Amino acid sequence: MRVYVAGAEGFLGARAVEALRAAGHELCALPAAAEAVAVLADARAGSLEEASRLLVAGTARLLDGLASGVKRIVVAAAADAYGEGPAECVACGHVRPENRHVDAGAPWDPRCPRCEGALQPVAVREEERFQVATPLAALRISREELVRSFGRLRGIETVSLRFPCLYGAGATDGVFASIVSELRAGRAPILTEDGLQTRDFLDVRDAARAVCVALGHPRAAGQVFNAGTGKFTRVLDLARLVAASLGVPGDFRPSGRLRPGDARHIALEPRMFQYATGWRPAIGLAAGVEEALGREKAPAAP
Ligand SMILES: [Zn+2]
Repeated sequence: MRVYVAGAEGFLGARAVEALRAAGHELCALPAAAEAVAVLADARAGSLEEASRLLVAGTARLLDGLASGVKRIVVAAAADAYGEGPAECVACGHVRPENRHVDAGAPWDPRCPRCEGALQPVAVREEERFQVATPLAALRISREELVRSFGRLRGIETVSLRFPCLYGAGATDGVFASIVSELRAGRAPILTEDGLQTRDFLDVRDAARAVCVALGHPRAAGQVFNAGTGKFTRVLDLARLVAASLGVPGDFRPSGRLRPGDARHIALEPRMFQYATGWRPAIGLAAGVEEALGREKAPAAP
């Protein structure tokens, strides 16, 4: 299949290109020649206009330039659109805490919106409503809807892949990358809140394989999938894994502050994707982190 990857130079895009080549697909330089398209470009937090240009205007331009031979479009979406994830309350059952206020402080864990009781987080499923906390999440949703509506109108199959936090060799953005760069610089990373907030960390190679599956699997057509692990990992535990892999002391400082828009607990339940296509994460976090860092040890202190 001839595939065009939008965002091929990015963290996920570069790995997706490798995975597609390894699977025998032909990569094309222009969307007009493609039979299938993967929209993987991502924007960093920063200027909204720039993010909008990349995520929305860039995708609109791509869609305008597609040839009639395109059969399928895969679009990367983001977990941040879900906001605060769902949870179980012993008394009330399944509940959905609201996104936290930007001024929120300790105690950090959301309480049950009905009875104020303690909550056990559960992995979010695709049918949960969005609780958009950031403009960037809103732009990613716009892109996802742009692709899906375009596909419906033109009779092109679409697949949405909602990814959690990606990590791996070459990561330049996000929790993993910032912890790695601080530790490599000999500094103790500052973790927001108390460091016990949880995220779903997916190896970028598993994410790239998810893109391949979504492009080619007949049962993926028209679907929205969570491509996550469904597992909650405390940010502090990720930081400890990174420190252990680098062979440096695991000193971390909690900032005691909330990064506005952050959920306390979020993990993506991948069962639907797995059921439809057989995809599941193959790389465990400890092994993935170890491989990503290439067993590199920090240089000795002068
Ligand atoms: Zn309750």
